Amino acid sequence: MDYNKVLCGRIRNVPPSGIRKYFDLLQGMEGGISLGIGEPDFQTPWHIRDAGIYSLEKGFTKYTPNAGLSDLRSAISRYLKRRFDLEYAPAGQILVTVGGSEGLDLAFRCMLEPGDEVIIPTPSFVCYGPLVSMTHGVPVYVETKAENEFRLTPEELKRAITPRTKAVVLPFPCNPTGGIMERADLEALAQVLRGTDIMVISDEIYAELTYGGQRHVSMANLPDMYERTIVVNGFSKAYSMTGWRMGYLCGPKELITAMTKLHQYGIMSAPTTSQYAAIEAMDHGDGDIEAMQSEYDGRRRFLVDGFRKLGLSCFEPKGAFYTFPCIRSTGLSSEEFCDRFLEKEHVAVIPGSAFGPGGEGFVRACYAASMKDLAEALERLGRFLESLR
Ligand code: PMP
Repeated sequence: MDYNKVLCGRIRNVPPSGIRKYFDLLQGMEGGISLGIGEPDFQTPWHIRDAGIYSLEKGFTKYTPNAGLSDLRSAISRYLKRRFDLEYAPAGQILVTVGGSEGLDLAFRCMLEPGDEVIIPTPSFVCYGPLVSMTHGVPVYVETKAENEFRLTPEELKRAITPRTKAVVLPFPCNPTGGIMERADLEALAQVLRGTDIMVISDEIYAELTYGGQRHVSMANLPDMYERTIVVNGFSKAYSMTGWRMGYLCGPKELITAMTKLHQYGIMSAPTTSQYAAIEAMDHGDGDIEAMQSEYDGRRRFLVDGFRKLGLSCFEPKGAFYTFPCIRSTGLSSEEFCDRFLEKEHVAVIPGSAFGPGGEGFVRACYAASMKDLAEALERLGRFLESLR
């Protein structure tokens, strides 16, 4: 059987993620340290786990409504108002999804006609382009620049717009750069978008992880932008709940209703146990967020300082939990750097090139790791850089 003929061209042509390789290699390595995976190192706070367990004890093991438990949607609605001044009605404007990942997939699949273009600032999370391609859309990558602190500028956005532009992804706070967009930055983009039919898909999964007193601002907070923005969010990063697979979409009722249709046929409803845990997170998790955020902040400064002391220039990330040091001074490509560093010192970091155009010359190091591991990784990095001289 020729399975290449069985598989559709769209999936055959999508490249595998450039991230996975490093986990597979790190696996059998003695004393390996991973600064590779984009996953919190904390356990899900106990009271949240307890709420999931308790729901099982009570026998809540059936499907929920397609859009998610009504109590969860109400809790999300209160949370968004309290933390980000966003107003979404629990009935009709909020859809509970299987992670932010499903939310992104639904948003693209419900909006794109074949040939529709989606503007994707890069370097950014690896899934946007492949998801757009798999739904017959065309990803249009726009390189953000270190000298602009990896923000998307209105000029860059304007240059990328064509008559086929259907949507722009706003991946801020950004994985892998740690860049954020402040209100004034968003306002400048809004001025380009007002009066067009272009939608914004705002991936706000790291909204709770911003530093230096900066609070995340959503594009949906800006005048005239609410009706053209779909907010993608989830529980993985803020509450350390990656394995629970909980996320949500918010937006105009007409769109969320359509997305609920697709979710209903493809998923039915997000995992029930996780939904009960998520209610607890929304209602009683603010303290957990703050504790983890403050821990990340200390690690962030430690790692950025460490890179700079070793002679690598490093933009100070303002959000998420990644640093993105520049490794051009080593003369290696970012992939060579990561391969050799892993092979010699057993530390996994990810080549910037895995995150799209503009990532070459940088590596992503995640600080969702213990201080002990970060300190050890820096020591090994010092040794590695020395060996290159
Ligand atoms: N968006 C970004 C920017 C991410 O980094 C991730 C996870 N790495 C996701 C979305 C998806 O997260 P999840 O499906 O766990 O909610």
